[in-house]
Amino acid sequence: MDFSLVPKNDEKQALRLRRFGMALMSYVLWVSLGVAGYLSGTLTLDRELLLFLLAGIAASNLLIFVVLRSGLNERFSDPSLTLFQCLVAMCWILAFMYLSPLAREIMLMIYVVTMLFGMFQLSRRELLLLAIFSLAGYGALLFFDDVLQASREVLTREALRYSVLTVMILWSAYFGNYVGSLKQKLRRQNQSLKRAIETATHQAERDELTRTYNRRFIMGSLDEEKVRADEENRIFSICIFDLDHFKRVNDDHGHQAGDQVLAEFTMRAGGILRSMDQVRRRGHPMGRYGGEEFIVLLPGTGLPGAINCAERIRELTEKRTFVNDIKVTVSVGVAQYRAGEEIKETIRRADEALYEAKALGRNQVCTEPRFDRPQGLDTHSEIVLTGRQKRLTP
Ligand code: GH3
Ligand code: MG
Ligand code: MG
Repeated sequence: MDFSLVPKNDEKQALRLRRFGMALMSYVLWVSLGVAGYLSGTLTLDRELLLFLLAGIAASNLLIFVVLRSGLNERFSDPSLTLFQCLVAMCWILAFMYLSPLAREIMLMIYVVTMLFGMFQLSRRELLLLAIFSLAGYGALLFFDDVLQASREVLTREALRYSVLTVMILWSAYFGNYVGSLKQKLRRQNQSLKRAIETATHQAERDELTRTYNRRFIMGSLDEEKVRADEENRIFSICIFDLDHFKRVNDDHGHQAGDQVLAEFTMRAGGILRSMDQVRRRGHPMGRYGGEEFIVLLPGTGLPGAINCAERIRELTEKRTFVNDIKVTVSVGVAQYRAGEEIKETIRRADEALYEAKALGRNQVCTEPRFDRPQGLDTHSEIVLTGRQKRLTP
C-alpha cells in the first residue's frame, strides 16, 4: 500500500494532487488573512459563522482530497475535477464576501485567481460556465446585499467594481480558451510528428518489397545481439535462407511474379517466426540479406532450435505453391554464435552451411561444418547426420 500524500507510480494522479495542493495553498492564504482580520477586529464577523466557514472549507477540501487520492475521480469525465474545485472555491469566497463586506475588495482578487486556476485546464464550455457562474454569483451577492437600495455613490462604486470583475473574468475565459486551442494544436502537431517519425523509422529499417528488415538493420541487430550474448552469457543462432534456382523463376514467370514469390515467402516464414515468438516471447527478426537471401536471428536459441525453425520454414515452402502455381524450394544454412567471436565469423559459417546445402542438392537445412551434435537435441526433430549433411526428417 502506498500511504504517501501523492501516489508514486501514477504520474497523472500525482499531478492532479499537486494541483489540488496549489489550490489548498491559496485557501490557506486567504483564510489566514480572514482569521487575522477577525482576530485583529478589522473584520466584523460572527464567531459561529467564521467557525462554520472554516469547518465547511476544511470538509469540502478533505472530500476532494479523498476522492482524488482514492482514485474515485477517475470515474468522472474530467478526472482532475478542476471545474468542481473552482465552483466550490467560488462558493466559499462568495460566502466569505457576503458575510464580511469589508473583506470584499481583497477577496475579489482571490475570486479572479480561482478563474485563473481553471484557465489552462477547462474546456471552452466549462470556462464559459465558470465565467457565467462567477459573474452571476457576485451579482446575486450584490442583489442580496441590497446594493440596489444603497446610495448613488455606493451603487456607482459597486457597478464599477462589477464591470472590472466582468472584464477580468471574461478576459481570463478568453485567454484560457486561446491557450487551450494552442495546446490542442500543439498536441495535434506532436501526434503527426510522432507518426512521421514512426513512418520514417519504419522506412529506414524495412525492405520495401518484402517488409522484412533491411540488410543494414538486421546486421545492426546481429551486432547488438552479439554484445548482449557476450555480456549476459547468452546464446543465439542465425539461419540464412536462399531460394533455390530463383533465376529460373524469373526466367519462366517474369520478374514481377518473382517479386511476389519473395513477398509470399517472407510472409509465410514470418508467420512461423511469429508463432515461435508467442511461445518464447522473444522477437525473431528476419531481414533481407541479399536479392533472394534472408537472414533470421534467433535469440536464446541453440542449434537444435534453429534447425527446427529452419526446417519448418523449408517444409512449408516446399509444400505450398506460390503465385501462378509456382513451386519453389529453399536451402538454409544454420550457425550458432560462439562466445567472443566476430559476428561475421558466425555469418561465414552459416554461409558455408548454405553452400553445403546447395551442393548437396538444395531444399535442405545444413548446419555449420564440423558441427558436433549438441547436448539436449530436440527429440521431435530427428537430425540425420550423414557426413556434413544435417537434413531433418519429419
Ligand atoms: P541457387 O540459389 O539455387 O543456386 O540458384 P539461384 O538462381 O537462386 O541463384 P542466384 O542466387 O545466383 O540468383 C539469384 C537470383 O534471384 C538472381 C536474380 O534474378 C533473382 N533476384 C534477386 N533479387 C530479386 C528481386 O528482388 N526480385 C526478383 N524477382 N528476383 C530477384
Ligand atoms: Mg542467392
Ligand atoms: Mg538462390
